[in-house]
Amino acid sequence: MIWKIPLADLKLGEEEKAAVIEVIDSGWLTMGARVKDFELAFAQMLSSPFAFAVANGTVALHTACLALGIKRGDEVIIPSLTFVADANVVVQCGATPVFADIESPDRLTISPEAIERAITPQTRAIMAMHYGGFACDLDKICEIAKRHNLFIIEDAAHAPGSTWNDRKLGTIGNIGCFSFFSNKNMTTGEGGMVVTGDAGLAEKIGWIRSHGMTTLTWDRHQGHAWSYDVRFAGCNYRMDEIRAALGLVQLNKLATNNQRRKELVLHYRKNLLEARNPISIPFSAEDLGTSANHLFVALLPPGIERNAVMSGLKEAGIQSSIHYPPIHQFTYYRSLLQNRNLELPVTEAVAQRLITLPLSAVMGEDQVDEVSERLISILNSQES
Ligand SMILES: *Cc1c(COP(=O)(O)O)cnc(C)c1O
Repeated sequence: MIWKIPLADLKLGEEEKAAVIEVIDSGWLTMGARVKDFELAFAQMLSSPFAFAVANGTVALHTACLALGIKRGDEVIIPSLTFVADANVVVQCGATPVFADIESPDRLTISPEAIERAITPQTRAIMAMHYGGFACDLDKICEIAKRHNLFIIEDAAHAPGSTWNDRKLGTIGNIGCFSFFSNKNMTTGEGGMVVTGDAGLAEKIGWIRSHGMTTLTWDRHQGHAWSYDVRFAGCNYRMDEIRAALGLVQLNKLATNNQRRKELVLHYRKNLLEARNPISIPFSAEDLGTSANHLFVALLPPGIERNAVMSGLKEAGIQSSIHYPPIHQFTYYRSLLQNRNLELPVTEAVAQRLITLPLSAVMGEDQVDEVSERLISILNSQES
Protein backbone atom coordinates (compact mmCIF):
# COMPACT_ATOMS: atom_id res chain seq x y z
CA MET A 1 0.00 0.00 0.00
CA ILE A 2 1.37 3.40 -0.99
CA TRP A 3 0.04 5.86 1.56
CA LYS A 4 -0.71 9.38 0.53
CA ILE A 5 0.13 10.40 4.09
CA PRO A 6 2.15 7.73 5.92
CA LEU A 7 2.23 7.45 9.70
CA ALA A 8 5.93 8.29 9.79
CA ASP A 9 8.20 9.53 7.07
CA LEU A 10 11.79 10.62 6.69
CA LYS A 11 13.94 12.35 4.18
CA LEU A 12 17.61 11.53 4.18
CA GLY A 13 19.68 13.82 2.01
CA GLU A 14 23.08 14.59 0.56
CA GLU A 15 24.70 14.86 3.98
CA GLU A 16 23.67 11.34 4.94
CA LYS A 17 24.82 10.00 1.56
CA ALA A 18 28.20 11.68 1.88
CA ALA A 19 28.65 10.38 5.44
CA VAL A 20 27.94 6.80 4.34
CA ILE A 21 30.25 7.02 1.32
CA GLU A 22 33.01 8.33 3.54
CA VAL A 23 32.72 5.24 5.73
CA ILE A 24 32.83 2.92 2.73
CA ASP A 25 35.91 4.69 1.41
CA SER A 26 37.60 4.52 4.82
CA GLY A 27 37.81 0.72 4.78
CA TRP A 28 36.79 0.42 8.48
CA LEU A 29 33.20 -0.67 8.92
CA THR A 30 32.47 -1.22 12.57
CA MET A 31 33.15 0.15 16.05
CA GLY A 32 35.70 2.73 14.93
CA ALA A 33 36.11 6.48 15.03
CA ARG A 34 32.54 7.26 13.95
CA VAL A 35 30.94 5.12 16.63
CA LYS A 36 33.15 6.89 19.19
CA ASP A 37 32.27 10.31 17.75
CA PHE A 38 28.56 9.47 17.68
CA GLU A 39 28.67 8.35 21.33
CA LEU A 40 30.51 11.50 22.35
CA ALA A 41 28.14 13.78 20.45
CA PHE A 42 25.06 12.00 21.84
CA ALA A 43 26.44 12.12 25.39
CA GLN A 44 27.15 15.82 24.93
CA MET A 45 23.63 16.50 23.66
CA LEU A 46 22.30 14.89 26.84
CA SER A 47 25.01 16.22 29.17
CA SER A 48 25.57 12.60 30.16
CA PRO A 49 29.03 11.26 31.01
CA PHE A 50 28.64 7.89 29.26
CA ALA A 51 26.87 6.74 26.09
CA PHE A 52 27.20 3.41 24.27
CA ALA A 53 25.94 2.94 20.73
CA VAL A 54 24.23 -0.42 20.20
CA ALA A 55 22.46 -2.35 17.46
CA ASN A 56 18.90 -1.23 18.33
CA GLY A 57 16.66 0.05 21.10
CA THR A 58 15.60 -3.40 22.24
CA VAL A 59 19.15 -4.54 22.95
CA ALA A 60 19.76 -1.19 24.63
CA LEU A 61 17.00 -2.16 27.08
CA HIS A 62 18.34 -5.71 27.42
CA THR A 63 21.83 -4.36 28.09
CA ALA A 64 20.38 -2.07 30.77
CA CYS A 65 18.65 -4.99 32.51
CA LEU A 66 21.79 -7.15 32.36
CA ALA A 67 24.02 -4.35 33.64
CA LEU A 68 21.67 -3.83 36.60
CA GLY A 69 21.80 -7.56 37.37
CA ILE A 70 18.12 -8.28 36.66
CA LYS A 71 17.78 -12.05 36.90
CA ARG A 72 15.50 -15.01 37.50
CA GLY A 73 13.09 -14.37 40.36
CA ASP A 74 13.28 -10.59 40.03
CA GLU A 75 10.37 -8.39 39.09
CA VAL A 76 10.47 -5.25 36.98
CA ILE A 77 7.52 -2.86 37.01
CA ILE A 78 6.58 -1.58 33.57
CA PRO A 79 3.57 0.04 31.94
CA SER A 80 1.36 -2.23 29.84
CA LEU A 81 0.75 0.67 27.44
CA THR A 82 4.16 0.51 25.80
CA PHE A 83 6.05 -1.29 23.09
CA VAL A 84 6.37 -5.01 23.83
CA ALA A 85 10.18 -4.85 23.83
CA ASP A 86 10.00 -3.46 27.39
CA ALA A 87 8.37 -6.67 28.64
CA ASN A 88 10.31 -9.03 26.35
CA VAL A 89 13.74 -7.96 27.59
CA VAL A 90 12.66 -8.50 31.19
CA VAL A 91 11.55 -12.03 30.27
CA GLN A 92 14.83 -12.56 28.37
CA CYS A 93 16.63 -11.93 31.68
CA GLY A 94 14.52 -14.62 33.35
CA ALA A 95 12.67 -11.98 35.37
CA THR A 96 8.96 -11.16 35.48
CA PRO A 97 7.42 -7.99 34.09
CA VAL A 98 4.76 -6.62 36.44
CA PHE A 99 2.37 -4.29 34.68
CA ALA A 100 1.28 -1.04 36.27
CA ASP A 101 -1.53 1.19 35.08
CA ILE A 102 -1.09 4.60 33.47
CA GLU A 103 -1.95 7.85 35.24
CA SER A 104 -5.11 8.92 33.37
CA PRO A 105 -6.65 9.25 29.91
CA ASP A 106 -4.79 12.55 29.72
CA ARG A 107 -1.40 11.41 31.07
CA LEU A 108 -0.58 8.12 29.34
CA THR A 109 2.61 7.50 31.34
CA ILE A 110 3.00 4.96 34.15
CA SER A 111 1.25 5.94 37.37
CA PRO A 112 3.44 6.38 40.48
CA GLU A 113 0.57 5.17 42.69
CA ALA A 114 0.20 2.04 40.56
CA ILE A 115 3.96 1.47 40.77
CA GLU A 116 3.77 1.70 44.53
CA ARG A 117 0.94 -0.86 44.64
CA ALA A 118 2.88 -3.27 42.39
CA ILE A 119 6.01 -3.37 44.56
CA THR A 120 6.83 -6.72 46.20
CA PRO A 121 9.99 -8.00 47.91
CA GLN A 122 11.09 -9.28 44.45
CA THR A 123 10.88 -5.89 42.73
CA ARG A 124 14.26 -4.70 41.47
CA ALA A 125 13.54 -1.99 38.92
CA ILE A 126 10.98 0.35 37.37
CA MET A 127 10.93 0.86 33.63
CA ALA A 128 9.75 4.39 32.90
CA MET A 129 8.64 4.83 29.29
CA HIS A 130 8.28 8.46 28.27
CA TYR A 131 5.18 8.06 26.10
CA GLY A 132 5.33 10.06 22.89
CA GLY A 133 8.23 12.06 24.31
CA PHE A 134 6.40 13.27 27.44
CA ALA A 135 8.16 12.63 30.72
CA CYS A 136 6.79 10.22 33.29
CA ASP A 137 6.24 11.77 36.72
CA LEU A 138 9.91 11.43 37.60
CA ASP A 139 9.60 13.45 40.81
CA LYS A 140 7.41 10.76 42.32
CA ILE A 141 9.05 7.81 40.56
CA CYS A 142 12.53 8.81 41.74
CA GLU A 143 11.21 9.22 45.28
CA ILE A 144 9.56 5.76 45.20
CA ALA A 145 12.71 4.18 43.75
CA LYS A 146 14.83 5.72 46.48
CA ARG A 147 12.49 4.67 49.28
CA HIS A 148 12.28 1.07 48.04
CA ASN A 149 15.87 0.82 46.79
CA LEU A 150 14.86 0.17 43.16
CA PHE A 151 16.62 0.94 39.91
CA ILE A 152 15.06 3.15 37.25
CA ILE A 153 15.49 2.28 33.58
CA GLU A 154 14.22 5.04 31.31
CA ASP A 155 12.85 3.88 27.97
CA ALA A 156 13.53 7.12 26.12
CA ALA A 157 12.92 5.65 22.65
CA HIS A 158 10.35 8.40 22.02
CA ALA A 159 12.26 11.09 23.81
CA PRO A 160 15.62 12.14 22.35
CA GLY A 161 15.86 15.83 23.25
CA SER A 162 12.90 15.80 25.69
CA THR A 163 13.47 17.43 29.05
CA TRP A 164 12.27 17.22 32.63
CA ASN A 165 13.10 20.17 34.93
CA ASP A 166 15.64 21.26 32.31
CA ARG A 167 17.41 17.89 32.43
CA LYS A 168 17.38 15.63 29.40
CA LEU A 169 15.23 12.50 29.56
CA GLY A 170 17.34 9.35 29.61
CA THR A 171 19.79 10.85 32.11
CA ILE A 172 17.63 10.83 35.23
CA GLY A 173 17.26 7.13 36.02
CA ASN A 174 20.18 4.74 36.50
CA ILE A 175 20.25 3.90 32.79
CA GLY A 176 18.53 5.50 29.79
CA CYS A 177 17.80 3.71 26.51
CA PHE A 178 17.20 5.20 23.06
CA SER A 179 16.16 3.76 19.69
CA PHE A 180 17.15 4.96 16.24
CA PHE A 181 14.72 2.73 14.33
CA SER A 182 13.59 4.25 11.07
CA ASN A 183 10.35 5.73 12.40
CA LYS A 184 11.93 7.43 15.43
CA ASN A 185 12.80 11.14 15.77
CA MET A 186 16.36 10.45 14.66
CA THR A 187 17.33 7.33 12.79
CA THR A 188 20.16 5.09 11.76
CA GLY A 189 17.82 2.48 10.22
CA GLU A 190 18.41 0.16 13.16
CA GLY A 191 20.30 1.46 16.15
CA GLY A 192 20.18 2.44 19.80
CA MET A 193 22.05 4.08 22.64
CA VAL A 194 22.54 3.20 26.30
CA VAL A 195 23.41 6.09 28.59
CA THR A 196 24.34 6.27 32.25
CA GLY A 197 25.95 8.62 34.70
CA ASP A 198 27.43 5.77 36.75
CA ALA A 199 31.02 4.75 35.94
CA GLY A 200 30.55 1.22 37.32
CA LEU A 201 27.47 0.62 35.20
CA ALA A 202 29.22 2.17 32.19
CA GLU A 203 32.02 -0.36 32.47
CA LYS A 204 29.50 -3.23 32.52
CA ILE A 205 27.52 -1.82 29.61
CA GLY A 206 30.74 -1.67 27.56
CA TRP A 207 31.46 -5.31 28.37
CA ILE A 208 27.93 -6.54 27.66
CA ARG A 209 27.86 -4.84 24.27
CA SER A 210 30.84 -6.79 23.04
CA HIS A 211 31.05 -10.36 24.40
CA GLY A 212 32.12 -9.24 27.87
CA MET A 213 35.53 -8.39 26.42
CA THR A 214 37.68 -5.74 28.06
CA THR A 215 39.16 -4.43 24.80
CA LEU A 216 37.72 -3.96 21.34
CA THR A 217 39.07 -4.81 17.87
CA TRP A 218 39.50 -1.08 17.31
CA ASP A 219 41.77 -0.72 20.36
CA ARG A 220 43.84 -3.65 19.15
CA HIS A 221 43.95 -2.22 15.63
CA GLN A 222 45.18 1.08 17.03
CA GLY A 223 47.87 -0.68 19.03
CA HIS A 224 46.32 0.13 22.42
CA ALA A 225 45.99 -3.51 23.39
CA TRP A 226 47.21 -6.94 22.36
CA SER A 227 44.77 -9.16 24.17
CA TYR A 228 41.63 -9.05 26.27
CA ASP A 229 39.96 -10.54 29.27
CA VAL A 230 36.28 -11.56 29.47
CA ARG A 231 34.38 -10.22 32.50
CA PHE A 232 30.75 -10.93 31.59
CA ALA A 233 28.76 -13.41 29.48
CA GLY A 234 28.09 -10.60 27.04
CA CYS A 235 26.52 -10.34 23.62
CA ASN A 236 27.35 -8.78 20.29
CA TYR A 237 25.14 -5.69 20.44
CA ARG A 238 27.54 -3.41 18.58
CA MET A 239 26.73 -0.63 16.13
CA ASP A 240 28.61 -0.32 12.85
CA GLU A 241 30.32 2.73 11.35
CA ILE A 242 27.77 3.31 8.60
CA ARG A 243 24.98 3.64 11.14
CA ALA A 244 27.09 5.83 13.41
CA ALA A 245 27.87 8.11 10.46
CA LEU A 246 24.13 8.40 9.75
CA GLY A 247 23.52 8.99 13.44
CA LEU A 248 25.97 11.91 13.56
CA VAL A 249 24.16 13.66 10.70
CA GLN A 250 20.74 12.88 12.16
CA LEU A 251 21.75 14.11 15.61
CA ASN A 252 22.68 17.46 14.08
CA LYS A 253 19.15 17.72 12.70
CA LEU A 254 17.38 16.56 15.87
CA ALA A 255 16.65 19.96 17.44
CA THR A 256 15.30 21.39 14.17
CA ASN A 257 13.25 18.28 13.47
CA ASN A 258 11.83 18.21 17.01
CA GLN A 259 10.88 21.87 16.66
CA ARG A 260 9.07 21.06 13.41
CA ARG A 261 7.19 18.21 15.10
CA LYS A 262 6.09 20.59 17.81
CA GLU A 263 4.73 23.07 15.25
CA LEU A 264 2.78 20.31 13.53
CA VAL A 265 1.37 19.04 16.83
CA LEU A 266 0.22 22.57 17.65
CA HIS A 267 -1.43 22.73 14.25
CA TYR A 268 -3.20 19.39 14.82
CA ARG A 269 -4.39 20.52 18.23
CA LYS A 270 -5.74 23.77 16.88
CA ASN A 271 -7.59 21.99 14.03
CA LEU A 272 -9.08 19.26 16.18
CA LEU A 273 -9.99 21.34 19.20
CA GLU A 274 -11.57 24.14 17.17
CA ALA A 275 -13.87 21.66 15.46
CA ARG A 276 -15.81 21.18 18.73
CA ASN A 277 -15.82 17.46 18.21
CA PRO A 278 -15.57 15.04 21.08
CA ILE A 279 -11.95 14.00 20.42
CA SER A 280 -9.59 14.57 23.30
CA ILE A 281 -5.85 14.97 22.99
CA PRO A 282 -3.69 13.57 25.76
CA PHE A 283 -1.01 15.55 27.60
CA SER A 284 -3.26 18.60 27.24
CA ALA A 285 -1.60 20.49 30.07
CA GLU A 286 2.02 19.76 29.12
CA ASP A 287 4.51 22.23 27.76
CA LEU A 288 5.09 20.85 24.24
CA GLY A 289 8.53 22.43 24.28
CA THR A 290 9.70 19.84 26.81
CA SER A 291 8.65 16.92 24.59
CA ALA A 292 10.30 15.42 21.52
CA ASN A 293 6.71 15.04 20.20
CA HIS A 294 7.41 11.61 18.77
CA LEU A 295 3.71 10.75 18.27
CA PHE A 296 0.49 12.59 17.68
CA VAL A 297 -2.11 10.62 19.59
CA ALA A 298 -5.81 11.34 20.03
CA LEU A 299 -8.55 9.67 22.06
CA LEU A 300 -11.71 8.92 20.13
CA PRO A 301 -15.02 9.39 21.94
CA PRO A 302 -16.05 6.31 23.97
CA GLY A 303 -18.17 3.95 21.90
CA ILE A 304 -16.89 5.08 18.51
CA GLU A 305 -16.00 2.24 16.11
CA ARG A 306 -12.26 2.75 15.87
CA ASN A 307 -11.85 0.24 13.03
CA ALA A 308 -14.31 2.22 10.95
CA VAL A 309 -12.40 5.42 11.67
CA MET A 310 -9.10 3.82 10.68
CA SER A 311 -10.66 2.35 7.52
CA GLY A 312 -12.13 5.72 6.62
CA LEU A 313 -8.68 7.29 6.94
CA LYS A 314 -7.18 4.47 4.93
CA GLU A 315 -9.65 5.08 2.09
CA ALA A 316 -8.23 8.59 1.91
CA GLY A 317 -4.68 7.19 1.81
CA ILE A 318 -4.01 8.21 5.41
CA GLN A 319 -2.19 5.72 7.61
CA SER A 320 -3.03 5.56 11.30
CA SER A 321 -1.96 3.28 14.13
CA ILE A 322 -2.48 2.35 17.79
CA HIS A 323 0.21 3.02 20.39
CA TYR A 324 -0.17 0.54 21.92
CA PRO A 325 -2.20 -2.63 22.14
CA PRO A 326 -1.65 -3.29 25.90
CA ILE A 327 1.04 -5.91 26.48
CA HIS A 328 -0.90 -7.82 29.15
CA GLN A 329 -3.55 -8.68 26.52
CA PHE A 330 -1.14 -10.44 24.14
CA THR A 331 -1.37 -14.25 24.12
CA TYR A 332 2.13 -14.80 25.51
CA TYR A 333 1.68 -12.39 28.39
CA ARG A 334 -1.86 -13.56 29.17
CA SER A 335 -0.54 -17.05 29.77
CA LEU A 336 2.60 -15.85 31.58
CA LEU A 337 0.53 -13.79 34.00
CA GLN A 338 -2.56 -15.93 34.38
CA ASN A 339 -2.11 -16.27 38.12
CA ARG A 340 -1.60 -12.60 38.68
CA ASN A 341 -4.32 -10.25 39.65
CA LEU A 342 -3.93 -7.49 37.09
CA GLU A 343 -5.76 -4.25 37.60
CA LEU A 344 -5.23 -1.95 34.67
CA PRO A 345 -8.59 -0.20 34.26
CA VAL A 346 -7.24 3.05 32.81
CA THR A 347 -4.96 1.27 30.33
CA GLU A 348 -7.78 -1.01 29.21
CA ALA A 349 -10.30 1.81 28.77
CA VAL A 350 -7.89 4.15 27.00
CA ALA A 351 -6.44 1.48 24.72
CA GLN A 352 -9.87 1.04 23.06
CA ARG A 353 -9.97 4.71 22.10
CA LEU A 354 -6.38 5.54 21.12
CA ILE A 355 -5.49 6.47 17.60
CA THR A 356 -2.12 7.70 16.33
CA LEU A 357 -2.22 10.08 13.36
CA PRO A 358 0.60 10.77 10.88
CA LEU A 359 3.45 12.89 12.20
CA SER A 360 6.96 13.46 10.94
CA ALA A 361 9.37 16.35 10.55
CA VAL A 362 8.87 16.27 6.77
CA MET A 363 5.08 16.73 6.87
CA GLY A 364 3.43 19.94 5.78
CA GLU A 365 0.65 21.89 7.50
CA ASP A 366 -1.52 21.11 4.46
CA GLN A 367 -1.19 17.41 5.23
CA VAL A 368 -2.09 17.99 8.88
CA ASP A 369 -5.16 19.86 7.63
CA GLU A 370 -6.07 17.00 5.32
CA VAL A 371 -5.82 14.40 8.11
CA SER A 372 -7.74 16.61 10.56
CA GLU A 373 -10.55 17.35 8.11
CA ARG A 374 -10.90 13.73 7.13
CA LEU A 375 -10.98 12.57 10.75
CA ILE A 376 -13.58 15.17 11.69
CA SER A 377 -15.81 14.26 8.77
CA ILE A 378 -15.58 10.54 9.60
CA LEU A 379 -16.53 11.25 13.21
CA ASN A 380 -19.43 13.47 12.17
CA SER A 381 -20.78 10.78 9.86
CA GLN A 382 -20.43 8.11 12.55
CA GLU A 383 -22.33 10.16 15.07
CA SER A 384 -25.31 10.87 12.86
C1 LIG B 1 11.03 1.62 19.16
C2 LIG B 1 10.85 1.32 20.60
C3 LIG B 1 11.62 0.36 21.27
C4 LIG B 1 12.54 -0.60 20.57
O1 LIG B 1 13.49 -0.04 19.76
P1 LIG B 1 14.04 -0.85 18.48
O2 LIG B 1 15.18 0.02 18.04
O3 LIG B 1 12.95 -0.92 17.48
O4 LIG B 1 14.49 -2.17 18.94
C5 LIG B 1 11.44 0.21 22.63
N1 LIG B 1 10.56 0.95 23.31
C6 LIG B 1 9.79 1.88 22.70
C7 LIG B 1 8.83 2.68 23.52
C8 LIG B 1 9.89 2.07 21.32
O5 LIG B 1 9.10 2.98 20.74
